[in-house]
Amino acid sequence: MSELLRELDEMPLSLLDTEAGDLHAALDGPTLFHLKGGREPALFICVLMHGNETSGWDAIRQVLRGCVVTEGLRLPRSLSLFVGNTAAAEQGVRHLPDQPDYNRVWPGSETHGTPEHELMKAVMDIMADREIFASIDLHNNTGLNPHYACVNVLEHQSLHLAALFGRTVVYFVRPRGVASMAMAALGPSVTLECGKVGQEHGVQHAADYLRACLHLSEIPAHAVASHDIDLYHTVAVVRVPPELPFAFGDEDGAIRFPRDLDRMNFRELPVGSLIAECHVEPAQALDVRDEQDRQVADQYFILEDGCLVTRVPVMPSMLSCSPEIIRQDCLCYLMERYNDHLADAG
Ligand SMILES: [Zn+2]
Repeated sequence: MSELLRELDEMPLSLLDTEAGDLHAALDGPTLFHLKGGREPALFICVLMHGNETSGWDAIRQVLRGCVVTEGLRLPRSLSLFVGNTAAAEQGVRHLPDQPDYNRVWPGSETHGTPEHELMKAVMDIMADREIFASIDLHNNTGLNPHYACVNVLEHQSLHLAALFGRTVVYFVRPRGVASMAMAALGPSVTLECGKVGQEHGVQHAADYLRACLHLSEIPAHAVASHDIDLYHTVAVVRVPPELPFAFGDEDGAIRFPRDLDRMNFRELPVGSLIAECHVEPAQALDVRDEQDRQVADQYFILEDGCLVTRVPVMPSMLSCSPEIIRQDCLCYLMERYNDHLADAG
């Protein structure tokens, strides 16, 4: 058991009117709710792994409001809801300075030894004992991105769960220690990226999706048709080295990104696409790590006349124009089309 975790078998209905920023005052920390419904096993839902990504909480409380009856809540399927980093939500940040990223410390993480690692292990142990129908972890991002689902295993049921959210699906195995990767050991599992915080259609899309999942009697076990999804595989993560100053537009910086950098998300960039202006070789300007954690900047980028450009066709995702997110998380991920591999899923 983890000293950080609270576990509750009911939810006060007043919580459904509580904004993400007020959850810490109401709950006093990470809380796992088990709410009984018409079918077992429970659907497992994670919200607020990142404290500033509030669409998941807004979506699930909208769904639960629709389930309120005189005796309390009537759910079509049992629900285990994990409300994560309430302390960060109170401050409106991804995580507090003295906390690890909550979505990097689940079992399978490359790091260990913090109370938050124990917390996620405790949640997973509890859910392993109770069994799950499926697992859904809800997030927002900062750049211009479509709504999409991520899977961490190429397995039919997880791909069906992903396709139910939309036709764009991303398969990744790095970073490690994310909730959907850990929970994939227990059942079909996805991460949902619901666009930017504060966009009503992101909340609506997520709420419709969660409602549909709660009503599912089963998740198909046959293959997803290749024409039904656009599957991408994350092949590298791109970071700006911590010591290197960067800027956008014509501001001063050792590396200068175009102001509308995030317009390139989910676009297949031709060779020679401008990523940044700078005067150092790709490997000095960007830390690009492949799935084996090797520096591969020179495979993807080349310096030409003071410009860093792509040297192979790639598709970025999660490109952000937020300096804070770029420092705390990364600049972007690089992806390749992966539909050919759908036939390998089992
Ligand atoms: Zn997130």
